[in-house]
Amino acid sequence: MTDSLIESLQAKHLKDLKPYESARRLFSGGQDWLNANESPFVGEYSLNSNKLNRYPDCQPKDVLQAYAAYAGVAPEQVLVSRGADEGIELLIRAFCDAGQDSILICPPTYGMYAISAETFNIGVEKAPLQADFSLDLDAMATFAGKVKVVFICSPNNPTGTQVAPEQIEQALALFQDSALVAVDEAYIEFAKDQGWAQQLAKYPNLVVLRTLSKAFGLAGIRCGFTLASPGVIQVLLKAIAPYPLAEPVAQIAAQALSPPGLTWMQDKVSTLNSLRQTLQNQLLALGDFIQLGDCQANFILLRTAYKQALMDDLVAQGILIRDQSKQLGLENCLRISIGTEEQNQRLIAAMQRFFKEKTQ
Ligand SMILES: *Cc1c(COP(=O)(O)O)cnc(C)c1O
Repeated sequence: MTDSLIESLQAKHLKDLKPYESARRLFSGGQDWLNANESPFVGEYSLNSNKLNRYPDCQPKDVLQAYAAYAGVAPEQVLVSRGADEGIELLIRAFCDAGQDSILICPPTYGMYAISAETFNIGVEKAPLQADFSLDLDAMATFAGKVKVVFICSPNNPTGTQVAPEQIEQALALFQDSALVAVDEAYIEFAKDQGWAQQLAKYPNLVVLRTLSKAFGLAGIRCGFTLASPGVIQVLLKAIAPYPLAEPVAQIAAQALSPPGLTWMQDKVSTLNSLRQTLQNQLLALGDFIQLGDCQANFILLRTAYKQALMDDLVAQGILIRDQSKQLGLENCLRISIGTEEQNQRLIAAMQRFFKEKTQ
C-alpha cells in the first residue's frame, strides 16, 4: 500500500492527531523511572492457569465485589475495565455522538480526556483552572447544555491539587440536567479528603474513575474502575468489549483487593507519603525550584528556569522525570514521581551536582 493511499484512507479526524506521548513512549531506557506516577514497589501475586483455555468473564464477580466493598458502593455501581483510561474512553463513546457532541475539560490536567475524545471525533471544550488551580465555575457554567461529559481530575494530575468539595457540588449542580460529571480519582489513596464514591446515590450525574495503576502498584496489568449509578453502568456495558479483562488480570486484581492486598497498598501509600515529604524538603532546599500546586498525590510539580538543561542532564544519567511545560500555564514545569528512598536520593544527588555546576 502506498503512503498516499494510506493517507487518503485514514479517517479525516485522525489526520492531524499525534499519538499520546506517554512516559513509556518518550523514554524506554533509564533506570530511575520517576516520570509516570507509577509505584516504585512491586507486590507478589500467584497465577492459576487452570482457566486459561476459556474466555474470561467480561465483569468478573469477585473483582466487582471486592472493589465495591473497598470503595463503599454496591457491585451494580461498578464497572471494571482495561485501566481507568478505558473507563474514560467508554464514557466518551457511550454518551457522546461522534461529529456532534463535546466533552469539557479543565486544563492543566490529564491528557487522555482530550486524546480519547479526539480519536472518536468528539469535541473538546476547555474551562481552564484558575491561578490557584481551583475550578473556574463561571467559565464552566457557560458550557451547561453544550457538553455531555465533564472531566474533573481530583487530585489533579499534574498539579496535585484536590478540588474543594463545595466546588464539585456546584459543578454537579451546574450540569445536573445536561451532563455527566466524571471525577477522576486515580490518586485518591494519597489524598487527605476522601473521594466521591459514596455520594453516587445523592448525585445521579456523578461518575467516579479509579485505578489499580498508582497506589496499588499495578500499572502493568491495566485495571481500572468506573463507579456510577446502575443506569450509567448499564449504558457503558453496551459499549465495552466482550472480554476487556484478561484472566490473569482478574486474578491479580482480586488478590490486590483482598484484605492482605489492601494492607500492602495502605502500607506503601504511607511510605510514599513520607518519602514525598522528605523529597519535597530536599528539592526546595536546593533553592532553584518553585513548587506549584499541592501534594495530594504521589508526585511533586516544580518550576525551574533550568528546566531543559536539567531534564537533559538527568536523562543522560538514566533518571527520568516528566516535562509538563507544554501544559496550559505550566511553562518551565517538571513533574517528579516519588520513587524508592534510593531513587529519590540519586535524584537529589544528581540535582545537587547540576545546580552546583550551574552556579560556579
Ligand atoms: C494514571 C492516570 C490514569 C490512568 O489510569 P490507568 O488505570 O492506568 O489507565 C487516569 N487518570 C489519571 C489522572 C491518571 O493520572
